[in-house]
Amino acid sequence: MTNITPDPRDMIALLIALIAVLPTAASPEPAEAKPQFSPNTRALDDSPVRRYGSRQRKKVFKFPYRFQGGSLKTKSFAKSFVQTALATALMLAGASATSGWAQNVKITPLGSHAGELCDRDRAMIFEDPTGVRLLYDVGQSTTGADDPRLGAIHAVLLSHAHGDHIGDQKMKALGAGSCEKPEIVPAGAHSVTAEIAAAKNAAVVMVVDLSVFIGKKIEGLTGKPTPVCSQADGGTTVPVAAACRSNIHLGGMHVLKATGAAQGVEITIVYAAHANSLPLSLLGEAERKSLAANGVSVEPGPPTGFVIKFTNGLTAYLSGDTGIHTEMKTIVNDFHKANLAVLNLGPNAMTALSGAHAVNELIRPAAVIATHVNEGATSDGKLKPNSRTAAFIKLSKRPVHLAISDRTMEFDGNAKCVAGCN
Ligand SMILES: [Zn+2]
Ligand SMILES: [Zn+2]
Repeated sequence: MTNITPDPRDMIALLIALIAVLPTAASPEPAEAKPQFSPNTRALDDSPVRRYGSRQRKKVFKFPYRFQGGSLKTKSFAKSFVQTALATALMLAGASATSGWAQNVKITPLGSHAGELCDRDRAMIFEDPTGVRLLYDVGQSTTGADDPRLGAIHAVLLSHAHGDHIGDQKMKALGAGSCEKPEIVPAGAHSVTAEIAAAKNAAVVMVVDLSVFIGKKIEGLTGKPTPVCSQADGGTTVPVAAACRSNIHLGGMHVLKATGAAQGVEITIVYAAHANSLPLSLLGEAERKSLAANGVSVEPGPPTGFVIKFTNGLTAYLSGDTGIHTEMKTIVNDFHKANLAVLNLGPNAMTALSGAHAVNELIRPAAVIATHVNEGATSDGKLKPNSRTAAFIKLSKRPVHLAISDRTMEFDGNAKCVAGCN
């Protein structure tokens, strides 16, 4: 998508440039001053009475320099001091603001209905300040690899193989159906996750058994094997030339670095108390028939969550689907010190009550993003007061932001939402 909003940094640079240029065209000396002394030397000649008189005091705030005959000449020290201080302050403000803007992590949920938090919504794009862009649990709420909201995707993360995460189905069209029941269609034999990884040349970051499975699906699309991503220079430099996969288990970390960046985004796989069964539609015909007859499926490794440490210090815990568990405290809080929790709700695994206990007592983050709510939680962008999501928010002692589709939230290193939050 093209961003046509002027960059505030450019505005500040323009302002500073104007300070340097304006005196050549503006601020002429008052006519009555000219007969008494040269404007360029008046500061030295000026009497204390004149300098500190009320009329002259106003002049102190004029610009410090003026060009005459091509030469730059200094006016009074007081003027220079004040004006230089002003310019310096502006530059410092600009630098500070620049670093502030540059250091936010942008999080954009990609749900079924723009401006709402809907039943099928799970997908999110995380963009690190260095430009690394991650797609988390694409699920069923995009139209697939051609979804115009995706843009560049450097890595695809998948918490577990369930159809509503791997993407066994996809949106018929953006906004199709209702928020409570979006209209979805089969996504074919490869999964939306593999299609996007293949189309975007993305690194596939997930527990190794699942990354091998998705790697095979990518191979089915591209005709080329999916190698393990290089971790030279302390991480995989993105964008990668062709899709590759991580090779890590629970507790392992995969680092993604933007080209030229000093620091990378650190992705650690953490425990989830859930299941990891594959949709039968993604299996070969023989396996599908045999397993379906027995009412079971296969599990490519354990279900997981993620802890992602971004380069600005934001440490996000992506719970995946999970019941409440003790590692939310011992590993996610005590060890990783996650300050943002992206919590999957939905009564099948996490109730309003257990979710609130998880954030209040176990994870203890500075902020929470509520997603995977398995209900149409909003109407016209407003939280429905009788929803389960509303019940969770009522019980939570932490700020909860709704994962509203197509709206970008920005978080600083302390997990304070500085833009785009409700
Ligand atoms: Zn699940
Ligand atoms: Zn789920």
